[in-house]
Amino acid sequence: MSTASHKPAVTTSVPIQTFVALGPIDPNLVEPFLAPNQRLVLNPTDEDLAVADAAIVRAASTVDAAMLDRMPALKVLARTGVGTDLVDVAEAARRGIPVVITPGTNTTSVAEGVFAHLLAAVKRLSTLTTLVRDGRWHERGAVTVGDLDGATLGIIGFGRIGSRVARIATAFDLNVLAYDPYADVPADYRCDSVEQLLAASDFVTLHVPLTAENHHLIDAARLSLMRPGSVLVNCSRGALIDLDAADEALHNGRLGGLGLDVYDPEPPEHHPVFDHPNTVLTPHLMGFTQRAMALTIQAAVMGAAAVLRGEQPIAVAGP
Ligand code: NAD
Repeated sequence: MSTASHKPAVTTSVPIQTFVALGPIDPNLVEPFLAPNQRLVLNPTDEDLAVADAAIVRAASTVDAAMLDRMPALKVLARTGVGTDLVDVAEAARRGIPVVITPGTNTTSVAEGVFAHLLAAVKRLSTLTTLVRDGRWHERGAVTVGDLDGATLGIIGFGRIGSRVARIATAFDLNVLAYDPYADVPADYRCDSVEQLLAASDFVTLHVPLTAENHHLIDAARLSLMRPGSVLVNCSRGALIDLDAADEALHNGRLGGLGLDVYDPEPPEHHPVFDHPNTVLTPHLMGFTQRAMALTIQAAVMGAAAVLRGEQPIAVAGP
């Protein structure tokens, strides 16, 4: 059975516009962005789909030609996030239905996640937690704890997340270097090659998309250029790092810490690098904070509403 959210009765002759939720959505996040003549339907029935003007599409929901057939009045699809692999964007385009996407709503969350990984590695939080928990306080002198202050952070990929990481880094008095041949990198930060950046950085964080060019961007040869004891953080895509090489680098001391939020594939097979005490692991959650999810759903609803008003949404997926 469908569930329509509570809206005051509309007394004007303005036609009702129906937003259907394809996947789980908290109506409290959506209500503030709906006009009085717009209603949100959770768990839509076939009848609801038949009159839907807009569909808010969560990550796990498939929108193929058959699903579009069930929504003959549809004027816009809005995907929460940027992945449109389960949405037939080309078929939607053929029917004149734009697919709104919501890039950037988790930029700050991921950037903060980078610092969670970096601080956990540099301050040795996992090792020190174990010492206290196991009553091994007297061993604390054997653990080397570092600082961000005055160290150099190398950022590979200076797009939305990379540049946000740079802004936060300055508050820690980190020196920042960045390599991105396609972006406008400030002259003070700019490196001309990955190699130059790796050799000059104490900590390195990856913020490039996964492309054929970037597969195993960090391999054994490039790890060998890093400063001894460096920390490497990957909150971008798992296949950017050759994990066998990273494991070797942790064991030979080239890497002093490794922070991973992303894996290839996901969920990953167990890898020996997961067992190293200087590895910090999170299960691809740094971009999925409660705030980021709220911002994402709101951006999708606002984008769909913009299309219904005849305005240009902030971002649409190309077929
Ligand atoms: P973005 O498109 O804004 O920035 C990517 C940057 O990488 C661009 O400036 C591009 O020029 C640069 N780039 C591409 N190839 C490069 C190369 N070979 N060397 C150097 N720079 C290169 O993307 P974004 O929003 O900053 O996101 C970056 C990546 O973060 C995404 O591609 C995605 O894989 C990942 N991500 C992860 C999470 C998470 O939950 N952990 C969440 C969002 C995004």
